[in-house]
Amino acid sequence: MNDINQHIQLIKSRIESACHKAKRNSSEVRLLLATKTVSPENIKIAIASGETLIGENKIQELKEKFEDLQRIPHEKHFIGHLQTNKIKDILKYGVTCVQSLDRIELAEKLHQRLSVEKKQLDVFIQVNTSAEESKFGVTPEQAIELIKSVAKFDTLKIKGLMTIGLFSAETEKVRPCFKILKNLQQEIIAQNIPNVDVQELSMGMSGDLETAIEEGATIVRVGTAIFGQRIYPDSYYWNEQA
Ligand SMILES: *Cc1c(COP(=O)(O)O)cnc(C)c1O
Repeated sequence: MNDINQHIQLIKSRIESACHKAKRNSSEVRLLLATKTVSPENIKIAIASGETLIGENKIQELKEKFEDLQRIPHEKHFIGHLQTNKIKDILKYGVTCVQSLDRIELAEKLHQRLSVEKKQLDVFIQVNTSAEESKFGVTPEQAIELIKSVAKFDTLKIKGLMTIGLFSAETEKVRPCFKILKNLQQEIIAQNIPNVDVQELSMGMSGDLETAIEEGATIVRVGTAIFGQRIYPDSYYWNEQA
C-alpha cells in the first residue's frame, strides 16, 4: 500500500474511534478530501481507495484538474473563498456544493447564474466561529439573518454550516468554535425556516477531527494528514488577499 492509502486508513480509524467515543454511528460522518495543491494522480489514488468526496479552494485548481478527473466518479465541493466573477466556473467544473457561502451578494449572483442555467446548487453557510480577522465567514450573530435571505432563492438549497476552527494545536481551544456551530444549527432548526435544512455540520480538519466529531460534525475535511504538508501556508488560501 502506498502512503496515501495508508493515511486514509489511519484517518478512517481515527473517525471510527472518535465516533465510538462520542457514541455516534460512523456512517454519520463523511470524510472530505481537502485536495488543494494535490495532483490529479494523487487524488485518483485517494478516490480509488473508496473516498469519493473532494473539496477544492481555488478556481484555478478546479480548472487544471478537471479533465484528468472527469471520468472518475466523485463528488466535488468548493471550500475556499469564492469571488462573484468566478461563479460560472463553479458550475462549469462540476461543483455540486459551495460550503463557503458567506455573504448575500454571493448568493444573489449564484442565484442569477443558476436561474439562467436552470440549475440548483447545495450550499453551506460559512461561519467564522473563532473571531479571527484572517478568516472568512459570517459572524454567528449575523448567520440567521443571512440564512433567511438566502432561503428566498429557490435555486440554492441550504444544507448545512461550515467553519474553520481556531488555529491552535490545543484541541480544547478549538472546541468552543465547534460548539458555537452546533448551537447555531440547533437554533436554526428551531426556527423552522422554509427551504432551510441544515443537517450538515462541516467542521474538523487533520489536527482536530476527533473534537469536531465529539461536537457533532457530519463532514470532516482532511488534507495534510492524507496528502502531506503543503508548500503554501494556509493563509494563502484563507485570506482576503488570496
Ligand atoms: C486546507 C483545508 C482543510 C484541510 O486542512 P488540513 O489541516 O490540511 O487537514 C480544511 N478546510 C479548509 C477550508 C481548507 O482550506
